This record gives sequence, C-alpha cells and structure tokens, in this order.
Amino acid sequence: MLKDKVAIVTGGTRGIGFEIVKTFYEAGAKVVFFGSKEESVLKALEKFSKENVKVKGYYPNLANYEEVEKTIQEISQEYGQIDILVNNAGISADRKIEETTSLDFQNIMDINVLSMFNTIKAVTPLMKEQGGGVILNTSSMVSIYGQAAGVGYPTSKFAVNGLTKSLARELAPYHIRVNAVAPGIINTDMVAALPKEVIQPLIKTIPLGRIGEPKDIANAFLFLASDMASYVTGEILSVDGAARS
Ligand code: NAD
Repeated sequence: MLKDKVAIVTGGTRGIGFEIVKTFYEAGAKVVFFGSKEESVLKALEKFSKENVKVKGYYPNLANYEEVEKTIQEISQEYGQIDILVNNAGISADRKIEETTSLDFQNIMDINVLSMFNTIKAVTPLMKEQGGGVILNTSSMVSIYGQAAGVGYPTSKFAVNGLTKSLARELAPYHIRVNAVAPGIINTDMVAALPKEVIQPLIKTIPLGRIGEPKDIANAFLFLASDMASYVTGEILSVDGAARS
C-alpha cells in the first residue's frame, strides 16, 4: 500500500509509533523515525533490526524549529522526497490543576502541539514542490470530551484537531491531505504508567470490551497514508472501540 513512499514518523521509538514504523515498512515504505534522544533511538534501531525492519532514526529537538528543519532537509536530500509525515510523539498528564505548574502546561503544549507545527512547517514547502503529500497527526479520544485531570493533555489534543482540520483546508489545493487518528486506550508504556484504579473502570466502559493494541492504531494510519484514502482529508478518525460514546 505504500510502495516506494518515503515516510517520517515522530515518536517512533516505542508504543504506537514503533508499530506505525513497522507497519509502514512492511507496506513498502522507506521509513525514518524520530525519537527524543540518542539512547532511545539506538535501542529502537536494535529492536527494529531484530524484526528485520530496516529504518533510520534521528533525534532532533521537536520544539526547536531550526533543528527540525535541518533534519528534514537532510532526509529530503537523502531520499529525494517526503511523501508522508506522521506526527505521533506525545506525552500525557494526569495531575489536578493545583498540582500542575504553568511550566508543566507549557511543556505538554510544546511536545504535543508546537512540535507538530514545526515538522509540518518544515515539510510543507517540500510537499508543495513535489505536488502533494500526506500529513497525519496522533490525537486522542480525550479530544472529544476532555479528561477529569491533567488538563494540559486534552487541551493539547483539542489543539491537534484544530490544527488538523485547519491545515486540511489550507493545504488541500496543493494535494496535501491532513488527517488525525484519535486512539482510545491503547496498550503502551503511556497507559502502563497509569494507576490500575484509573484504567480498570475505563475498560469496563469500552463497548468492544478491551483496550486497543498499537497495531489497531497503526492500521488506521496505514489506511489514511495510502491512496485508498485519497478523498479523505480534515478527518479525526476515532479508533477506540466506541469508548468515546
Ligand atoms: P509512548 O510513551 O509509548 O511513546 C511516546 C513516543 O513519543 C516515544 O517514541 C517518545 O520518544 C516520543 N516522545 C516523548 N516525548 C518526546 C519529546 N520530548 N521529544 C521527542 N519525542 C518524544 O506513548 P504512546 O502511547 O505510544 O503514544 C503515542 C501517541 O499516541 C501520543 O501522541 C499519545 O498522546 C497518543 N495516544 C496514546 C494513547 C494510549 O492509550 N497509549 C491514547 C490516545 C493517544
């Protein structure tokens, strides 16, 4: 489905992003992933190589536009094109507002929103020049109804939806599609870090009766990245076992 496409995936070192990298590679894409630091990128490269997935990793500071632009230029020169950008890097929060500092809030907005703005700003001229592309963002089901603690996280994901829908309109004339996937509760480190008292009651409310696997999400990204979704743009695709309803 992605034969000869070149894809960049941020937050590709573990969890959902790791599975997206693997799925895209197996679908025929040349994939470059970003991680937060050298150590985690090297660890991920080892894991990918054990699974026979041949990819490259970088670790620019996503909140720094100059660093992001330099890395994306380097990738563009090496591969000759960038067809797909997946903005998946993200962190969550679960503290009450009294225990959240404005710096915590700023940090989550930097990683979950500003980083997307930076990567998209850097790839857009390249995609325009090559006549099109696909930009995909990881949102969350909390972007639909909020969350009872950790206000920075749902706020950042509402912003991801706004950015997705707005850029879909701005970039459509250039054949650049912009969509997001809104995962429900997915079996990754991010969820493992949450206390059982938080997770168990949540699972009971999921109509499909289970939490999602990273592959469930990677398959949705694969569809949206492929030409099968050629008339889909500005969409926030919920993949959550109907947990949002
Ligand atoms: P994870 O913690 O397993 O992975 C997060 C990824 O983001 C890692 O690759 C990490 O390197 C990267 N990252 C974190 N901080 C970074 C930074 N400062 N700079 C660069 N990269 C950074 O989490 P996950 O569950 O795989 O989450 C991936 C995405 O899915 C996030 O955007 C998250 O908000 C979203 N999401 C997850 C769930 C879930 O239940 N797991 C649900 C909804 C949405």
